[in-house]
Amino acid sequence: MKNVKCLKCIKCGKEYEALPDATTCECGGILDVIYDYDYIRENFTPDDISSSDNYTMWRYRPFLPVEEDTVQPPLRVGWSPLYEEPRMAEKLGIRKFWLKDDGLNPTASLKDRASSMGVAKAIEAGYDTIACSSTGNAASSLAGNAAAAGLKTYIFVPERAPIGKVAQLLIFGANVVSVKGNYEETFELSKAAIDEYGWYNRNAAINCYLMEGKKTVALEIAEQLGWKIPDYVALSTGDGCTIAGVWKGFKDLYNAGFTDKLPKLISVQSVNTCPINRAARTGEPWEPMEENTLADSISVGVPRNPDKAINAIVESGGIPVEVTDDEILEAMRITGRECGVFGEPAGVTGMAGLKKLCEEGRIPADASVVAIVTGNGLKDTVNGIKAAGEPVKLEPDIDKFRAYYEQLNK
Ligand SMILES: *Cc1c(COP(=O)(O)O)cnc(C)c1O
Ligand SMILES: [Zn+2]
Repeated sequence: MKNVKCLKCIKCGKEYEALPDATTCECGGILDVIYDYDYIRENFTPDDISSSDNYTMWRYRPFLPVEEDTVQPPLRVGWSPLYEEPRMAEKLGIRKFWLKDDGLNPTASLKDRASSMGVAKAIEAGYDTIACSSTGNAASSLAGNAAAAGLKTYIFVPERAPIGKVAQLLIFGANVVSVKGNYEETFELSKAAIDEYGWYNRNAAINCYLMEGKKTVALEIAEQLGWKIPDYVALSTGDGCTIAGVWKGFKDLYNAGFTDKLPKLISVQSVNTCPINRAARTGEPWEPMEENTLADSISVGVPRNPDKAINAIVESGGIPVEVTDDEILEAMRITGRECGVFGEPAGVTGMAGLKKLCEEGRIPADASVVAIVTGNGLKDTVNGIKAAGEPVKLEPDIDKFRAYYEQLNK
């Protein structure tokens, strides 16, 4: 890989050759992919990328840690729409607002970006089986992307995972283990099984390549805005791999001279489960919290990638903000009604945090902001109904409808 120098431990700084099945440092620290930005700058331009007819996340190959002949996995991941939303901007009291709908990926979440990368690296490394633990979306995403590429999967999810996500896993033919325990216990079981059976590891906090897939959402936002960077990017945070990936993506572009500015990141967690935000705000080491929010994808009490995530928030000059479950349900309604986008609870938690900050006057009126919808609402229709309510139920009788209609339009 000419564009990659090495893998480097974020804790002790030890460097490793960028082997496709690298895991963590011998000190236990998470590795980071280090790029040769001079090489990228000398060999590629923003125009090269903009003129690509590959409308997937693989259009960003100059910034991805893969060999020149690494095959692109079959599912169409990435290049999700970035909708400009002037009415929402006005409601929020900001100059410009865009919604990036990553729920439109093939298995309906941003996790597809990591899974596509994981599948590519597993094949590069010669594995036929790949495994992970997940609150739900990493699992369904891995199952789908691996199925399309002909790989076997072992998937560990906590028993609370929403039924829509479990249905995806089973449909994609994964070997699914529903763990009678919380996410932390699920993660530990998957780790032990992977160690024992030697499968390829798609746990984003262990396999440093996965974050490189997730970062493509940032590369896309930049390109879709004509290589201009918004003032803020808002998204939800669980394990922390997504926000760390987003920050890496914006920094890559900046370091390679493709852009001249970095955004501030708005990290949104639940008031009940916010170990990363709490540490980012106080500067104290993070501490475990209970898993206690209906936004299952970010109900993470023991985050697996806290250091990179906290660094992303602090280094970007960003804002950690917490929201209640009611505020998340409210964001589901608003995003649906104003933008026509149906997000799962964690999918719109970034939007919920942004709304709260705007109401508190903490976002300047001349700001430009992108909120990322990280997962599709059809994965969790129980909470969709909780947010939006039940439909009116009527006899098949026009008089009944008339009465209803008049009531409605009074
Ligand atoms: C995984 C996930 C997140 C959070 O990503 P982390 O890497 O765990 O911080 C947010 N929203 C959705 C829909 C997710 O699936
Ligand atoms: Zn180390």
